[in-house]
Amino acid sequence: MTADTRQRRKKRLDAQIKACRKCVRPDRLNVPGVTESAPGFGSIDSPVAIVGEALCRACMAKQEPFYGGSGRVLDRCFQRAGVDKTDLFITNSIHCHPPGDRDPYPHEVKNCADWLRAELREIVQPRLVIGVGKFAKASLLLLYPDARELNWPFRVPRLRRLDPPRLTYLLFPPHPYYIMTRAAPIREQYERRLARAIVWGFATAPTGPTE
Ligand code: SF4
Repeated sequence: MTADTRQRRKKRLDAQIKACRKCVRPDRLNVPGVTESAPGFGSIDSPVAIVGEALCRACMAKQEPFYGGSGRVLDRCFQRAGVDKTDLFITNSIHCHPPGDRDPYPHEVKNCADWLRAELREIVQPRLVIGVGKFAKASLLLLYPDARELNWPFRVPRLRRLDPPRLTYLLFPPHPYYIMTRAAPIREQYERRLARAIVWGFATAPTGPTE
């Protein structure tokens, strides 16, 4: 897919996500201003994607995943890595805001999997996908049966000679919401390690889309 085609596909996909009405029970999702969706945010050329669980209320209002709250932990990681939030691609395993910031239900994660697949596998095609939270992890393991999972704490992996050049790497650090409540040295260590992973993802990315 050329850059233009991916851009057009993203625009179409964003409209499909905003119009999606797949989740109606027990809560009706994608009701504007109440349980509204936000499509993936940032650069579709990014070699690094971050996938969270669901859109929080503030994120819904801003139409930006990881806005404020635990997003501030990620903001500090981006700063350490020398990248802007808009340089990455950031999305969620479900694109809507569940009422009361509850956990997504399994059927909602399943319903939203096609949108996540289109964002990551068709359009962005990142080298490194960082999933935070158990729902993000479950979605990504299904989406990338062919990926190589890296251990957390992150260490620069040894690239194997027989690895395909376009191999996708998955990384599952703790959710920044959990880290937010930890002592300063733990937060500092988390931010340093995640920043290192982001730098590595940008540095080792092959150029151009993978398919
Ligand atoms: S969570 Fe996903 S599948 Fe469900 S209504 Fe929202 S956009 Fe559609």
